[in-house]
Amino acid sequence: MNNNNREWHIYTKCIQEGWKPKNGEPRVLPIVQSTTFKYESSETMGDLFDLKISGDFYTRLSNPTTNAVEAKIAALEGGIGALLTSSGQAASLMSVINIAQSGDHIISTAEIYGGTFNLFEKTIRQMGIDVTFISVDSDEKEIEAAFRPNTKLVFAETLSNPGLCVLDIELFAKVAHKHGVPLIVDNTFPTPINCRPIEFGADIVVHSTSKYLDGHATALGGVIVDSGNFDWAASGKFPGLTTPDETYHGLIYTESFGRVAYITKCRTHLMRDLGAAPSPTNAFYLSQGIDTLHLRMERHCYNAQRIAEFLENDGRIAWVNYPGLKSNKYYDLAKKYMPNGTSGVISFGIKGGRKAATRFMDSLKLAAVVTHVADLRTCVLHPASTTHRQLSDEQLEAVGITPDLIRFSVGIEHVDDIIADIDQALSNL
Ligand SMILES: *Cc1c(COP(=O)(O)O)cnc(C)c1O
Repeated sequence: MNNNNREWHIYTKCIQEGWKPKNGEPRVLPIVQSTTFKYESSETMGDLFDLKISGDFYTRLSNPTTNAVEAKIAALEGGIGALLTSSGQAASLMSVINIAQSGDHIISTAEIYGGTFNLFEKTIRQMGIDVTFISVDSDEKEIEAAFRPNTKLVFAETLSNPGLCVLDIELFAKVAHKHGVPLIVDNTFPTPINCRPIEFGADIVVHSTSKYLDGHATALGGVIVDSGNFDWAASGKFPGLTTPDETYHGLIYTESFGRVAYITKCRTHLMRDLGAAPSPTNAFYLSQGIDTLHLRMERHCYNAQRIAEFLENDGRIAWVNYPGLKSNKYYDLAKKYMPNGTSGVISFGIKGGRKAATRFMDSLKLAAVVTHVADLRTCVLHPASTTHRQLSDEQLEAVGITPDLIRFSVGIEHVDDIIADIDQALSNL
């Protein structure tokens, strides 16, 4: 919001939100590379520890550089608070265990990032939290059927990595809310430029900021954004938020912090205990990335649309998956939730299967084979032999990844050069 009480366009927010210098302060977000902060009295320090007053005192919990970037991302997503983490994995984990513990159950769509799948399938189970995976294409009845009395949340990706399935956010939010639990979505691929899930009923949004938000492949990071819309007390299912926390002298999060109870507990409880905090310098890199997020996303989507159309019309290609193609199963859902484009990621298969896929990738000159995605440089990956290699063939099928699937992350180079590179690599088969 600017001082004319007129809400800024999201393009403006990318640049102007976050760090807002006062008289005589640096124009550019300063990197406060300090673990700790000085106070005049031990009484003040004690009050900070007891959460009686707010202020930075140790960078594991908060830091001026990090705080500014959290405010920027919260503004972009339309949330009331955010917490930066050291990686996307840390954000996903913390978003879940902030409200689920041993003996509880969660529901997740199966079409999620391989790292998140492992986290839920193995590590979360080892922590005593049971998981039911359902298809992102589930209808209301199928989502309903996964609920148990101890279910604490529903987790999904708005645009799945690498399957590019589009989530019906309103449907999943409706069913979750009917059962008194929140919908947590991973919005890494569309970014808030292309989709703002809170507007459609999502309660918590997480990101791997290592992808488009940073955009330059410089800093690993994650973020959790709280919409402030979920009523934890009314639900009655979240004692961690509504009963006294002895480590803070019996403080009750919902009573002391109201709408920001969830994100405050995430910081003061989980970040305090787990310590997956970002470095201030990485937060600064992230902020620099977000300054141009809107420009980059527009070009990623323009280039990806052109390349998807090129691939669809090429006889050497077996299939193309890009939600911006009219032939795509998710075209209508994408138009509804991501009207300006989905992302720069395309997946496709080449005639000749797994072997042809490897040969094609090795022949690319501009596009680099890297374990990364959503970067301003075009890059490419074969999930079945890399990010998802732990999965059995049945598991691969369940999460929508065929052995021939190539994940092509379209960068912001000139589209003609990317197409020429694909064309020459295909000629090499
Ligand atoms: C990369 C990714 C993650 C994990 O993030 P890291 O920053 O690599 O830990 C989570 N979700 C999605 C959708 C991702 O693409």
